[in-house]
Amino acid sequence: MKKLRQLYEGKAKKVFTTDDPDLVIVEYKDDATAFNGEKRGTIVGKGVINNKMTNYFMQLLSETGIPTHFIRELSDRETLVRCVSIVPLEVIVRNIAAGSFSKRYGVEEGRLLRRPTLEFSYKNDDLGDPLINTYHIYALDLASPAEVGLITEYAFKINDFLKSTLAQCGITLVDFKLEFGKTSSGEIILADEISPDTCRFWDSKTGEKLDKDRFRQDLGNVEGAYREMARRLFG
Ligand code: UDP
Repeated sequence: MKKLRQLYEGKAKKVFTTDDPDLVIVEYKDDATAFNGEKRGTIVGKGVINNKMTNYFMQLLSETGIPTHFIRELSDRETLVRCVSIVPLEVIVRNIAAGSFSKRYGVEEGRLLRRPTLEFSYKNDDLGDPLINTYHIYALDLASPAEVGLITEYAFKINDFLKSTLAQCGITLVDFKLEFGKTSSGEIILADEISPDTCRFWDSKTGEKLDKDRFRQDLGNVEGAYREMARRLFG
């Protein structure tokens, strides 16, 4: 399968058409951004790790009954996926308070939540991805109640699966962001990525941050954190 034409270039990935209209190729870059693009940088080797890690999780999730866009890894940085229109929602699941949740509710980072939470942000860079509730989602026709129901069910199942898989590698899954897409036949499937760019991973013993917060907060050894996550999962 060959790349034909670049469809789109995002902050961390490019998307290309192929000769099959139902399939596209994603290419992972080393570019990193934070704070809605205000902070920019490069994390050397990130694209390779995020590609491999996303594909690893997506394959396992498929086996547990979650439909995903993953078809086949083509190279270190390139993967063939199903073409979808992205539901313009960031679907965020949290197990432990951190980031914007801690800030918004005045909760210390690291507090274990009584139960996992789910929230949606409206994917819109110009507006800074504002928090959105389900009434707003339906009113704006961003997704139907049935679609939001399915997305919610998948999101918590994905959380249970990732939490236990990562726990076996000595990693605590703090929170993460998912994106879902709609196929030409209207099926809702998991899309985008699952990586240290989109999840908070803490070392279960030391609490060390092994994710993009090292870049966001200038904690140093950013590349090392991504490599350590790859080592925990793949040896
Ligand atoms: N996240 C993401 N993309 C975004 C916003 C958040 O991947 O545009 C991820 C982030 O890495 C974290 C989770 O979603 O794992 C929750 O992020 P939060 O809302 O706390 O936002 P932040 O603190 O990053 O502003």
